[in-house]
Amino acid sequence: MAHTAYPQSYYAASANPIPARPELNGEVETDVCIVGAGYTGLSTAIALLENGFKVSIVEAAKVGFGASGRNGGQIVNSYSRDIDVIERSVAPKQAQLLGDMAFEGGRIIRERIAKYNIQCDLKDGGVFAANTPKHMKHLESQKKLWERYGHTQLELMDAKRIQEVVGTDIYAGGMLDMSGGHIHPLNLALGEAAAVESLGGVIYEQSPAIRIERGANPVVHTPNGRIKAKFVVVAGNAYLGNLIPELSAKSMPCGTQVITTEPLPPELAKSLLPQDYCVEDCNYLLDYYRLSGDNRLIFGGGVVYGARDPANIEAIIRPKMLKAFPQLKDVKIDYAWTGNFLLTLSRLPQVGRLGDNIYYSQGCSGHGVTYTHLAGKVLAEALRGQAERFDAFADLPHYPFPGGRLFQVPFSALGAWYYTMRDKLGI
Ligand SMILES: Cc1cc2nc3c(=O)[nH]c(=O)nc-3n(C[C@H](O)[C@H](O)[C@H](O)COP(=O)(O)OP(=O)(O)OC[C@H]3O[C@@H](n4cnc5c(N)ncnc54)[C@H](O)[C@@H]3O)c2cc1C
Repeated sequence: MAHTAYPQSYYAASANPIPARPELNGEVETDVCIVGAGYTGLSTAIALLENGFKVSIVEAAKVGFGASGRNGGQIVNSYSRDIDVIERSVAPKQAQLLGDMAFEGGRIIRERIAKYNIQCDLKDGGVFAANTPKHMKHLESQKKLWERYGHTQLELMDAKRIQEVVGTDIYAGGMLDMSGGHIHPLNLALGEAAAVESLGGVIYEQSPAIRIERGANPVVHTPNGRIKAKFVVVAGNAYLGNLIPELSAKSMPCGTQVITTEPLPPELAKSLLPQDYCVEDCNYLLDYYRLSGDNRLIFGGGVVYGARDPANIEAIIRPKMLKAFPQLKDVKIDYAWTGNFLLTLSRLPQVGRLGDNIYYSQGCSGHGVTYTHLAGKVLAEALRGQAERFDAFADLPHYPFPGGRLFQVPFSALGAWYYTMRDKLGI
């Protein structure tokens, strides 16, 4: 079978040493078989192994091949839709549980980095940048909302103050979250994979799950092997395809693109982001950027349907970068790549069980670095019989995309166009 390699990203080019991992051949028995070695799968595996479970992971390509090895690296707290939206759609007790958990993922990441000595350039501090006065009002109410759930370390910044942390005058203000931050995402995934293995877990690469046999003892089939397990956790997210048809109608893979400059002279890098915080703006189709460990600007933006080749990506994302930082006009772009995240209609995660022994978590709709780490812990709790927090996610309502599988992309592209116009008009 042909091997699937990492995309040509800055992260793959600057990854820590990557050990060879086996393909699955023959039959294996385990307590839990996890499908997918991104943050969801790895975080679940660590939490289960720390609690005495036997765990095997099957990964279609390589550890961190999906969004977890290609993302903006931003540790952004809360969910893609905020707690006020959750409060309006679920019972108060469920909203309280979800609100209480909204900042837990960032803490889990930091605990894992410390406990397993993961080298992934962790930096504290994330900025939400307001493009308009209306965004600023939204940030003010978001701060109050988050503080109501005990999440502090937040500072509102006016138009002058934000220029001390982001070297551009395009913003109306912003909010600094010192419990946010950034990491080298692929190195975090690789470090977590090493943690899984240090705890006795096994990761099979180049081993896609092609069928899951349901029943009292589910079996995950790959092209050359099969794993019998007491439980299966499906963590393939936007790369899962149609393996579980019940899940694909209510979620849709979307591409987002990232470019990385050549290393910048230290003075220039410092003039862009003097405290080395990461930044995302408040548009629906948002721009996000930060410095790498070697002073490159890593800049991602929007959702672009169909733009795949690097020249095309650079043509789309570079103008966004120059809008914030015109002084980078002569800087070379060394890398450009694309990755898929999984969107749900509500933009809240799609979580649940199929029968009583197949569990899934996916669809965090763009903000997933922290949520996926929380999801792993919550999934492991559920498999240990403490499902209260898992059920708070599983009970979130989800609806199919209009147009079914055939027309959901054009419909959603239309929706994205509508929100882009709203962003542009500042309404
Ligand atoms: C370009 C980009 C930028 C982003 N930036 C940010 C950011 O800055 N901050 C943030 O919070 N979020 C960001 N996100 C979102 C975040 O990266 C994701 O939400 C998160 O990484 C999802 O993790 P995951 O483990 O669920 O999925 P993935 O990381 O996609 O992992 C799924 C894995 O499952 C494997 N797989 C799929 N199907 C099968 C199968 N049948 N058998 C075996 N294996 C299978 C895939 O190969 C893949 O390795 C970004 C996403 C993208 C694409």
